[in-house]
Amino acid sequence: MTNSALKFWGWGREGEGPDEVATRKIAAALARRFGMEKIEVLSPPRIEELDLRAPRVERPEALRSMLTDDASERARHSLGRSYRDLVRAFRRDFSEPPDWVAFPESEQAVIDLLDWCGSKNIAAIPFGGGSSVVGGVECNVGDGYAGGVSIDLTRLDQVVEIDRVSRAARIQAGIYGPALEDALRPQGLTLRHFPQSFEFSTLGGWLATRAGGHFATRYTHIDDFTESLRVVTPSGIIESRRLPGSGAGPSPDRLFLGSEGSFGIITEAWMRLQDRPSHRANASVWFSSFERAVDATRAISQSGLEPSNCRLLDPAEAEFSAGGSGDAALLVLAFESADHELDAWMARAVAICREHGGDVPDDAVRTRTDAGASREGAGGTWRNSFVSAPYARDALVAASVISETFETAITWDRFAEFDAHIRDVVGAALARVCGGGTLTCRFTHVYPDGPAPYYTVLAPSRRGAELENWAEIKLIAADAIIEGGGTITHHHAVGRDHRPWYDRQRPELFGEALRSVKTTFDPAGIMNPGVVIDPAGR
Ligand SMILES: Cc1cc2nc3c(=O)[nH]c(=O)nc-3n(C[C@H](O)[C@H](O)[C@H](O)COP(=O)(O)OP(=O)(O)OC[C@H]3O[C@@H](n4cnc5c(N)ncnc54)[C@H](O)[C@@H]3O)c2cc1C
Repeated sequence: MTNSALKFWGWGREGEGPDEVATRKIAAALARRFGMEKIEVLSPPRIEELDLRAPRVERPEALRSMLTDDASERARHSLGRSYRDLVRAFRRDFSEPPDWVAFPESEQAVIDLLDWCGSKNIAAIPFGGGSSVVGGVECNVGDGYAGGVSIDLTRLDQVVEIDRVSRAARIQAGIYGPALEDALRPQGLTLRHFPQSFEFSTLGGWLATRAGGHFATRYTHIDDFTESLRVVTPSGIIESRRLPGSGAGPSPDRLFLGSEGSFGIITEAWMRLQDRPSHRANASVWFSSFERAVDATRAISQSGLEPSNCRLLDPAEAEFSAGGSGDAALLVLAFESADHELDAWMARAVAICREHGGDVPDDAVRTRTDAGASREGAGGTWRNSFVSAPYARDALVAASVISETFETAITWDRFAEFDAHIRDVVGAALARVCGGGTLTCRFTHVYPDGPAPYYTVLAPSRRGAELENWAEIKLIAADAIIEGGGTITHHHAVGRDHRPWYDRQRPELFGEALRSVKTTFDPAGIMNPGVVIDPAGR
């Protein structure tokens, strides 16, 4: 990893990811795949090409040192990192930049910023790593506000205190994933929360969006690691008690988890930690039938074995990202422990797979203590493509290829019909809108009562019509999810993009209750307008 500046238009830092030559190679491979003669490649935007609107509100003298109107910073804080965001960046469309970007270095600075925003009717948009894929960090808040300020929390980046006895740490919200793990590693501890965006997302963002880590079962959601939260709201500070569990009424933490900055700014949290795993067992299991693989995955998820990974890839996804033949589904299975050998767990999981027709090498049932265990075989190939995917996506966007995902969760009893319907309607939309393309599926998480299917779309798009093409496909996919009984998001959050479907999914009276909560914490309605819930009277 370099220390160059973060890209304002794509994933990672300047100089990282595919260069022009690599991007052309990717475009050529895609052209072959989609039967096209050639795909032209767009160049990424340069900051000199942008003509950002001048700030609409004045910077108060007292806050001068923490507010900047630097063009790179305003551009970087304009968009998240969804396909739609990347296309807009390649089009040089930064038409709704924040008027100012704020970098508070203390909780008092956050309070001062929210006071200023409240007094001047300025929208306050909390910003962690900016990896939102649902329009969560945009400043397009409409004419009802004098302007918008992006409040970047990444200077609140310390692990403040570690309680080794209870295995918990008090951590500031703006810390990025790698820095957080670096601070815990010397103590033999880990938060063990690894979303795919880990490198460029923050604790506060994970908490505000109820992020899901890459482990497939049990402790993987940020919710489960949260012991207590401290939040600055426009109405005051809230801090919950540190407790290992509590039955005292509705949980204050649960109210802020997933609130996406609409109630206030999470400044720090006590997080539950784990000992770093030392024992690992991994197996790549191939199934000639996706249906039987689904049954095997369900049986494992209901067995009480709780594997750390239990990620089922359909045959097409296994071909693209794990070197499969295109005819077989792949179950990436893994167990981890900081305490014990895992042979018995893996042996039982393998037996379940074999009962369902799974093909597993005999040496899979072996606990290893070297970190290389998860980097070998088809599972290792899949892992590599998982890690590099965010970088590769920038190249796909440059080649006008729609590269986007949508994700959900559904109970096992409805999965087969639900999945068939999604494939039907989205497949038809791809054929109509793009003249073809692929839709693949994997389970990112599995629960005893259902999987979290994650669909990936790859399709050639008409140059200049990328946003319209994707909007049409997304609308069909999201309608099918809601009508089929799924959730509009399993871990990507609501943001502005999912609001119409979240409003349909959420019980109406619950929406009213949320509005009252919003009014209590944020009476002026300045906090991240447009996400989760609208304030009363706005
Ligand atoms: C390539 C890629 C892979 C991804 N993989 C995953 C994944 O595996 N699992 C997953 O769950 N998500 C994933 N995401 C989505 C995204 O990374 C998550 O939503 C993440 O939790 C956002 O963290 P962030 O720090 O970047 O927050 P941001 O994007 O900056 O903000 C997200 C939302 O939280 C609010 N917010 C941020 N910080 C605070 C704070 N301190 N207090 C209050 N509100 C705040 C923002 O206003 C915004 O609404 C992925 C995204 C990308 C681009």
